[in-house]
Amino acid sequence: MTTPWGLPDFDAHEDIHFFTDEKSGLKTIIAIHSTHLGPAGGGARFWHYAQGEEAVTDALRLSRGMSYKNAMAGLPLGGGKSVILADENRTKTPDMLHAFGRAVEQLGGRYVTAEDVGINVADMIEIARATKYVAGLPNSGGDVGGDPGPHTSLGVFLGIKAAVKWALGKDSLQGLHIALQGAGSVATGVALHACAEGAKLSIADVDEAKAQKLAARAGGKVVSPDEILGLEADVLSPCALGAVLDEASIPNLKVPVVAGGANNQLATPEDGERLHARNILYAPDYVINAGGIINVCTEYLGDGDASLVRRRIEGIRVRLQQIWSEGAEMGRDPAAVADAMAQRLIGRA
Ligand code: NAD
Repeated sequence: MTTPWGLPDFDAHEDIHFFTDEKSGLKTIIAIHSTHLGPAGGGARFWHYAQGEEAVTDALRLSRGMSYKNAMAGLPLGGGKSVILADENRTKTPDMLHAFGRAVEQLGGRYVTAEDVGINVADMIEIARATKYVAGLPNSGGDVGGDPGPHTSLGVFLGIKAAVKWALGKDSLQGLHIALQGAGSVATGVALHACAEGAKLSIADVDEAKAQKLAARAGGKVVSPDEILGLEADVLSPCALGAVLDEASIPNLKVPVVAGGANNQLATPEDGERLHARNILYAPDYVINAGGIINVCTEYLGDGDASLVRRRIEGIRVRLQQIWSEGAEMGRDPAAVADAMAQRLIGRA
């Protein structure tokens, strides 16, 4: 198919900016997918790309994903994303971060940045020296803001509970077996909430020490990363990498529910249909993992306190139920239903 600009991932993005700063070595792409609902919100990714084209593709895909995520979370934000092209040694300097901040500032608030892979809270503080269009700064005395991880975990936990109610008719995770892929920031919060409710956990991480540590803290059994996707359990919760649900893994799943925090869990849109065909309930990733952006957005807009953040995160459950209900009525898979719903919300039905 011919696409505008010859870019397969171009989706009528409103604008794409390329900035370079010779002095600091900054090379960044800021993609604004949509500002229909508000300023384009989305993190900055610091990553070494073998080819510049890969960075463009990432910026295009990730910014569209942010439009969908923000819209489905009911936030007054559009979708954008930036990628900062790292060298092979991933050299990151304050000068480079300030130059990035100036690039964001030049856009006059059309794009609001925050943390993503490779960019931490300390980096955001540097970036904020050059622009006011920043969220995800440390908690400065208020009760919102700071690390998005725990908020993402809470949303994923509530989403798992909603999925278990929908698919299995259970009101609690008591006695249910959850297979958790990953033992990082998001997985840790999910594990702690789930074990407090009496769930049994199996945990896998490529870094076995992390899995051991989480199992000791939350309770649960460590299993190997190769086993986790094929484990017989009530819920599979992918909280590590993207593209783990594909043509090869889906036929081997032995769970009625997949609900986890990882971004881009489906390798292709067809994988949503594959799950549906196997009668496995899927919680679309960008809906269930919106807790972090909800917290960051509330901090940036200054439009509420921790109780508003909590209410917005609880709204994830309601959104998931709408998706599953519409999917059941129309015989469509939840991932496709979520995309269509998000497109309606951003005026692109
Ligand atoms: P993290 O880096 O803290 O944890 C990820 C963990 O996954 C690491 O411990 C890593 O060793 C492990 N891992 C990597 N490959 C693995 C594999 N093949 N099998 C098992 N474990 C593996 O990251 P995080 O912040 O917990 O994020 C996890 C996922 O959630 C990512 O996909 C991220 O994009 C997504 N996400 C995170 C947030 C957030 O607020 N942190 C918000 C939305 C989405």
